[in-house]
Amino acid sequence: MKRPIPSWASLDEIRAEVRQCAKERPEFKKVENLVLRIFTLQEEVRMKGILRPEDEDLKQSLRQGTALLGDLCLDLEVFARHVEALVNLLDSTGAQVVPAPELVLEFFQAHVDQLVDGLAGAPRAWVKRLHESTGLSPDVAQFLLWAVMHPFFRGAARSIIGDRDTHLWSGSTCPVCAAKPHMGQLRENDGLRVMECWLCAAQWEYPRIRCPFCGNEDQETLGFFHLEGDEGCRVQVCDSCKRYLKVFDARVLDREVVLSVQHLATLGHDAVAREEGYLPGSSLVLVPEIGEMEEVEETTERGENG
Ligand SMILES: [Zn+2]
Ligand SMILES: [Zn+2]
Repeated sequence: MKRPIPSWASLDEIRAEVRQCAKERPEFKKVENLVLRIFTLQEEVRMKGILRPEDEDLKQSLRQGTALLGDLCLDLEVFARHVEALVNLLDSTGAQVVPAPELVLEFFQAHVDQLVDGLAGAPRAWVKRLHESTGLSPDVAQFLLWAVMHPFFRGAARSIIGDRDTHLWSGSTCPVCAAKPHMGQLRENDGLRVMECWLCAAQWEYPRIRCPFCGNEDQETLGFFHLEGDEGCRVQVCDSCKRYLKVFDARVLDREVVLSVQHLATLGHDAVAREEGYLPGSSLVLVPEIGEMEEVEETTERGENG
């Protein structure tokens, strides 16, 4: 049977995926408990003030590619508690990854509205701001931006599209929040490429032989590699724009996976892609970068639909 798109992972499915990834990847095993606690904290966050649109309005948005996430309002108390819980959790690892917890709390409280409006379109610019204001390393700043904002975006996306099919959308960016993709999955039964938004977890189909970052469809310059013994995770690369994304092959893995977990479990692949000279098309900062943070052109405009 065809699985519907989108399909939202439950907390139990997320936990099972974390445990499975920890078995398969020794590096990830070290952070298994931390990751489990973060997903649990995220699940506890509840959305408020999100309205589900009428079916016809949703279809119209998907056809036209207009942003659906215009009026996301957060409960500021829930938000502040969530940031604090995450900071405490990271702090409790003893790895001293958060040099100034109070600055981090202040930063999120001062910028919550701007983050809602701007994080999807310019994740890298936000990493730079958070890094400069708080002393967090850029990759930890990126992780924290995701950990803080993901449950709110996911809750909003889920409440907006629910189980309704997103097939009318054929754009290269997320149909809900307009973020550029960082990961996808080749579906088990038909090999269809399904993208999942790193920020809001909305899913949509995208042609397999097309670069989502530059539109290139030339098979000569599109390719992928995987690490030895790890055929389930493909790093798909485009030699026209030198960008990459990670795509998990459910046919090789013998199951459909929870992409938000698989992504965290395969950050080593991101490091290799960078070493090979490719930039993340999503412009996420996932691995420590050498020297100053590069300026990467980011756009808040939506990709073309079609
Ligand atoms: Zn999204
Ligand atoms: Zn490209």
